[in-house]
This record gives sequence, structure tokens and C-alpha cells, in this order.
Amino acid sequence: MKSASLPALVFCLFLLAPPPAKAEPCAACAGLDGFVPPDTIDADLYLMVGKAKRSDKVRSVEIQEARGVVKTGLKPAFPGELSCPGIDTEGWAINYTGKRPWPARHKGVDIPQPRGTPIRAIADGTVIAVFENDGNRKGIEIALRHTPEQTGLPFWTYSQYTHLTEMPALAIGDAVRMGAEIGKTGNSGKMGRNIRRDALHFAVLFSEAPSWSNDGRVFVPADGFFMDPVAFYRTEGPYVSAELAQLPSSDKSVPVAYLKTDGTVVPADARRIWPYPCK
Ligand SMILES: [Zn+2]
Repeated sequence: MKSASLPALVFCLFLLAPPPAKAEPCAACAGLDGFVPPDTIDADLYLMVGKAKRSDKVRSVEIQEARGVVKTGLKPAFPGELSCPGIDTEGWAINYTGKRPWPARHKGVDIPQPRGTPIRAIADGTVIAVFENDGNRKGIEIALRHTPEQTGLPFWTYSQYTHLTEMPALAIGDAVRMGAEIGKTGNSGKMGRNIRRDALHFAVLFSEAPSWSNDGRVFVPADGFFMDPVAFYRTEGPYVSAELAQLPSSDKSVPVAYLKTDGTVVPADARRIWPYPCK
């Protein structure tokens, strides 16, 4: 009897092989407080955080504006006798259309610092995302989730730090204390032919829902909004950008709690601090 040809045999083995296991996008996320599978988060929220195909970019900016990415006029206020790393020209919600080959907004603030400067956790929290972001603009990224108990704010908040110079030593699920080093300042993240300056891109998101996800490429709070990162330091509401924009100019200067280089927190009972110490 003639034996089966080799191609036929390979084909039979292919049919017998079990289907490849579905890749778990964030295996380490599964047991964390509030984590829900990526496909349970509304598609608009992925567009909000910037996971958008070229054809979705206009819609993505519309969602970002509806969910907080609009200018507020807030400014951080630091004590005059100290030198605190501040936001440069790359402020909150500025229009990046023209800087990009598609419509875009700046969904955070940039704080320049020398390469390697430690970045500090702005509140107690848990690491929910660490991305290498190879080939995209954000570069190396870490994100923390903060519960209302940890910040004293009446919702869940998420802090995002990008352009790190190297992969952070922390892993998803690690608990961090306010002021702990979470990574080092750098300029990672592709910018076409231009070389990015060394700076932290710092962003804050918030949600009244505790659930969030991480699909292996982005983290997404369920029904989340972006917040002007300066608003995170306000001691009372509003926190919604459209409402902040309406405040009288006398309320636009926000005293920011901070760490001193000797490790003391000012004011001592602060639960939210600036991501770099003041000298
Ligand atoms: Zn930025």
C-alpha cells in the first residue's frame, strides 16, 4: 500500500494540532483591583487614550475634547524661594495638529529635566501599565492607579509618565508609595527626524467607576476622562476641564504640594505631590 505523501501528512498534523492559545494581553493585570477584560471597555475610550487608526484621528480628538482635553488656564504655584521643575511651552491641551500628520491634542504636560533624573510617584498607587512603546511617540511608559482613599479625591485617578530613558524597575501589580522613584527621565519615543528634549510627559485620567483595563498596548479607565494634571492638586472641585475653564482668574493658580530634596513633603499631610522634588 502506498504511504501518504509528506504534504498530506503535514496537513493532517496541522488539523490535529490544538489552536494556538489566545495571547493574554496583561496576564499580570488579571488579579488586580478593578481590572476588567480589554473588550469590556467602550471603543470610544480607546480612541480617547489615542489608540486610533489614521481614519479615526478626527473622531479621536472629538472624544478627547468631550472628555477633558481642553485648556483650563490653570497654573501650578510653587513657593518663590524654591526651584521647582515646571511645565515648559508644551502645556495642557495645546493643539498638536500641524505638529503631527493628523489632528491631535497634547493630552498632558511636559516637564523638562536632565536625563536620568528620578521621576516620583505623585500619590500612593499600584502599577497598572509598563510599556516599551517601541516605535511610537510615547516611548517608555509607566502608569499608576490611585484609589480615592490614596489621594483623598472622590474618584479613581490614573497617572501616566512617558519618554522614560529606560524600562522601569517596577512591574505591573507593584504597590508604590507617594514620592517613590518610578522611573528615570529621558527622551524615548519616536519623533520623525527630530530629537526629543529630555522631559517627562505627565498625564492624569480619572473615573467615577473603579474598573480599568490594559490590552498590552494601552491602559484605559472605564468611562474615564482626562484631567489637566495641575487640577489634580486642587483641594476641591471642580476637576472637569470645561468647568475649570470658567473659574475666575484668581482661582487659576493652584498651590501644588511637593517633595523637598531632603525627602520631606510640604505640606506634611499632602497625599498628592509634584512628580519632581523642589530644591
Ligand atoms: Zn507631552
